[in-house]
Amino acid sequence: MSDSSADFAALPLASELLSNLATLGYRTMTPIQAESLPPMLAGRDVIARAKTGSGKTVAFGLGLLSRLSLASSRVQGLVLCPTRELADQVAGELRRLARSLPNVKVLTLCGGAPLGPQRASLEHGAHLVVGTPGRVEEHLRKGALDLSGLETLVLDEADRMLDMGFQAAMEAIIAETPARRQLLLFSATYAEAIRPIAERLMREPVTVEVDEPHDDTTIRQHFYRIADESARFEALRRLLLHVRPVSSVVFCNTKRETDEVAEALNDASFSALALHGDLEQRDRDRLLVLFANGSASILVATDVAARGLDIASLDAVFNYRIARELEVHVHRIGRTGRAGGSGVACTLVSEQEEYRLARLADFLGETLATEPLPSRAVLERSPLTPAMATLELGGGKKQKVRPGDILGALTGEGGIAGDQVGKIKVLANSAYVAVRRDVVGAALDQLANGKLKGRSFRARRIRR
Ligand code: ADP
Ligand code: MG
Repeated sequence: MSDSSADFAALPLASELLSNLATLGYRTMTPIQAESLPPMLAGRDVIARAKTGSGKTVAFGLGLLSRLSLASSRVQGLVLCPTRELADQVAGELRRLARSLPNVKVLTLCGGAPLGPQRASLEHGAHLVVGTPGRVEEHLRKGALDLSGLETLVLDEADRMLDMGFQAAMEAIIAETPARRQLLLFSATYAEAIRPIAERLMREPVTVEVDEPHDDTTIRQHFYRIADESARFEALRRLLLHVRPVSSVVFCNTKRETDEVAEALNDASFSALALHGDLEQRDRDRLLVLFANGSASILVATDVAARGLDIASLDAVFNYRIARELEVHVHRIGRTGRAGGSGVACTLVSEQEEYRLARLADFLGETLATEPLPSRAVLERSPLTPAMATLELGGGKKQKVRPGDILGALTGEGGIAGDQVGKIKVLANSAYVAVRRDVVGAALDQLANGKLKGRSFRARRIRR
């Protein structure tokens, strides 16, 4: 049973916002949300600190949306973030939270994109702006952005913005906001450097801090130094052959790299699938079925593509390249060792990437030593073969095919045993069925030659 005091419904929020939260799967508040939302909704300035992944975006997002007056097209909320990636993430979350309200305009203003289109979007009006300090200040200086009607200013990852040298830009921006705006300061670490700003600019702020709860999952993190780029792929092979995970994800930083790595793994007799954001929904769904039913053991993915991936148990996560963002790293490794299990996270680090490792060590407050790779002798081993194979049947719900019919056809006269059949997924016009790899030929014959619902359907094996 959930604690009713942690129920979003206890908050003074519009019913559209509340019902949308449920559709997003947000049922109860995380601790930092439960602590920070009441004072935020009461209009107070708030300093909030909680670890990465604790739900800070939803916390300040609801704070921003609760004060929005849609009748006005002035900029009413501004979120400053340290990097473009984080700004994009925050803007995405704000749009999801706001989707039940009519036409909330959320605009991102970050460097690396041309100024002109951003200026044009500003002229069309935006309710909420999310951006990096440098670019937001530039628009202010050029008169393209007017913050005189601002209600709420959020400094997300305020500590990191200071570390990155954004103090002057932040102060210049704050100076352009009305004196009585609400100021919200969110961070993952307790930073002394924030104090002076907070004292000067906030009015009797409420401070809320949530310390890490005890967590019984154990993720063993390992880091490996590679001499140069040409050593990277072999290092991954050695780790895969040494750890021998039944299911694992290899994270890459670009979609091109996911394709290259998956192809090279398949050439080396592994069973890998490349998952990236450019895939059509159908292809993505098919790959995920193959992975989830045990027909492929390695998913090579970008962070974007892996978002929302719901895989119960991964034995290991490999970072082919260490993530550019600390929070991305934490989310990646959190995919292994879920729910009390244990998991392994292996990260490859080149000399050029060493500073990211140092930053991560700093952030985790631990020393992170690199280890030698498993010896070259492991390259003699052959890769693990997935236990299952997948057959596609040319009939689905529209043809009234149910899982039981498929199971019946496979195990009927002369067929295979029930325990050789794995997951069955029935779609609109087709179905995927997993069978043990060693009986795949017999299963295919059985489906292709037998009858199902009194008809025969096409059946074929799919590999990716
Ligand atoms: P932080 O900014 O604290 O690092 P995020 O805002 O990125 O964390 O949130 C981490 C994850 O938690 C996101 O995937 C988000 O969708 C999810 N999340 C946030 N609030 C809730 C909630 N109340 N219930 C379930 N999931 C949540
Ligand atoms: Mg955050």
